[in-house]
Amino acid sequence: MEKGKLLIISGFSGVGKGTVVENMLENFDNYKISISCTTRDPRPAEEDGVHYHFISKDEFEKMIENDELLEHAKYVDNYYGTPKKFVEDCLKRGENVILEIESEGARKVKAKMPEAIMIFVLPPSAKHLKDRLIGRNTEDHDSITKRLLKAVEETDAMKHYEYFVVNDQIDDTAKNIDKIVTNTNPDLPSEDEVLNIKNEIINFSKGE
Ligand code: 5GP
Repeated sequence: MEKGKLLIISGFSGVGKGTVVENMLENFDNYKISISCTTRDPRPAEEDGVHYHFISKDEFEKMIENDELLEHAKYVDNYYGTPKKFVEDCLKRGENVILEIESEGARKVKAKMPEAIMIFVLPPSAKHLKDRLIGRNTEDHDSITKRLLKAVEETDAMKHYEYFVVNDQIDDTAKNIDKIVTNTNPDLPSEDEVLNIKNEIINFSKGE
């Protein structure tokens, strides 16, 4: 049986990666999402075992010790990691697995599994990103500021990604990602478009 493909999907906090991935799981066959472990507190609508495995710092450290994580990273004060066994089992069964993870973890996975497809989701503009982070009402002011500054930092990691998709319409973004995986003419932004959005985000750090 042909092995499944591993997709790494990253993007700035607030870009809507989670919604895009949900859309892919609903509308396309043969994708599985890897549920990460995290030490952060659940947001109001989040369920343990659905959105994340919410675990303590001690439990997280045990998993690292037992080599149960494919990768792990710290993001804005908390640990996040990908359980290894689920990913390996899906790929063996021929299922495509989506990892929705930040860039440091993404690079660790790519180093271990070079065949992984690295995709970075961009907002249509920097303003979209800021409005969404504020509008979703799940973070306090301090966390929003940290997440915007983290976005600035993450622009540097964009160079490690193979594909960029602009999340304008969720349905289209999901279709585009499937087209990347199946190699069927995805609609990708030009280098200039990517650079423009990147520069707008960098300007956050200058208070613009
Ligand atoms: P959030 O707190 O908004 O759910 O996630 C914060 C960041 O952590 C996002 O960029 C998300 O993609 C990333 N993330 C979620 N799970 C993992 C994981 O297992 N490993 C790594 N490295 N990053 C993760």
